[in-house]
Amino acid sequence: MGRKNGKQSDCLTIFAFDLDEVRDGQSTEFQTETHKSARLAELGFNVIQHQIHTSAESAIAYFQQIAQTRDALPIWIDGVVMKVDDIAKQRELGITAGRPKGQVAWKFDSSGVETVLEGVVVSGGHTGGLYPTAELRPVEIGGTTVSNASLANYDEIQRLDVAIGDSVWVVKANDIIPKIIRVTDRPPTRQLIPVPTACPFCGGEVGRRRITGGGEGVIIECRNAECPKKSTGKINRWISSLDILGIGDVVLESMIERFDLADAADLYTLHTRAVELADMVINVDKDLRLGEKRATSILSAIEATRALALSRFLGSLGLDHLGKRRVELMIKAAGGALDTLADWRSAKLRDPAIAILAGVPNIGVSIQDGIDAMGPVIDKMLMNAVIVQDVSSGGISAESEILTKTVCISGKLLSGKKKADYEASLREAEFALVDDVSKGLTYLVLADPASSSSKAEKAQKLGIPIISEDELIELCRSMVTAAAASQPTA
Ligand SMILES: [Zn+2]
Repeated sequence: MGRKNGKQSDCLTIFAFDLDEVRDGQSTEFQTETHKSARLAELGFNVIQHQIHTSAESAIAYFQQIAQTRDALPIWIDGVVMKVDDIAKQRELGITAGRPKGQVAWKFDSSGVETVLEGVVVSGGHTGGLYPTAELRPVEIGGTTVSNASLANYDEIQRLDVAIGDSVWVVKANDIIPKIIRVTDRPPTRQLIPVPTACPFCGGEVGRRRITGGGEGVIIECRNAECPKKSTGKINRWISSLDILGIGDVVLESMIERFDLADAADLYTLHTRAVELADMVINVDKDLRLGEKRATSILSAIEATRALALSRFLGSLGLDHLGKRRVELMIKAAGGALDTLADWRSAKLRDPAIAILAGVPNIGVSIQDGIDAMGPVIDKMLMNAVIVQDVSSGGISAESEILTKTVCISGKLLSGKKKADYEASLREAEFALVDDVSKGLTYLVLADPASSSSKAEKAQKLGIPIISEDELIELCRSMVTAAAASQPTA
């Protein structure tokens, strides 16, 4: 349970539900949930009240009994969990959508309270969605005071015919998130809720779009790509700078919505959520999901950028005046003063002598401002286990890192082109063409990336991204433009 600064955490009580006990190096296999609970209690944990039922009827009766008496319990609960007592049988039943079939949560019908809608504020989502949030006259529901509630979207406001000043009925959806479900009184003084005609965060143009995740409906969104509320642009710059393939605009928007990605650092938490990523809806009308293959390939492309040379790391943050090439030149010119991430973060560039040495006499301060402003994102990257290879410690200089990027093209290409036809453009994009799949290979190109050839299998084992010929062409093109864009201009 979230607590700010651990405040009042001494008042919290923990109930234990599951136990993975190791005795003498051996994991204990519990035969039943009853055994497990008994052991938890024996170890001194609080366990929640539970009962064994041998028929569905008596289990349902127990659920109804709890539903009627739950207000008298010392804790707020939102339902009852039914578990198959025999743990081996539970396992046999398997898992759907990440949830064990042998354990089912039954939720109580939400009860609600009446209050007054005092105002509506707009909050901004990471893909530019503008969401109305209701400000309520504070009211107590189920032991907590509620002062705002979700209104989902502007269509919902119309559907409910709700306006400021109305009396509304509020429930906790799933007993957790407060939600207005109906209007109980519409006084004559009510004021209509304005629908945004411009983005309240950047003044940009707004449009309507059907959303792909987390509820149904049409949302109003900001259409300005550079809106400061959006993470789309920021993450896109990182992805294209590091040529992480497989994440087009549609997939990126779905990922940001589904996983609430605030910035590029959040990409490095996705490896633990492969199943959810594969299950992610990318086209709501066609109920099209990303699928396991594309999810795996996206995740390995992200993982391939987990360890980055200092110049690629800094040069991909999307800072003004700071492309990869510029960072490399500055590192070289500074002669050791800018060899580590710590150097770049220690305000050195505010020193005119260092700025002159690094070849940026006029923009040292603004580069430093940019890096400092990016501090929280850099910290989050490091916390999410992104490794920045300093020039001195890693022994990997910015330059040699670029030269060791390799591509292997295998089999007949769909276009009929030969490997050699790509050699020149690959070299221009600073990739070397190699014949074999081995550890450290940057990309394997296959006519059919879904093929199961021996090279494909080997690449999969090594976590090397497999790309199509189209993606290869795109790669050559984007690398050349990126290199041109990061040439010094000042
Ligand atoms: Zn905006």
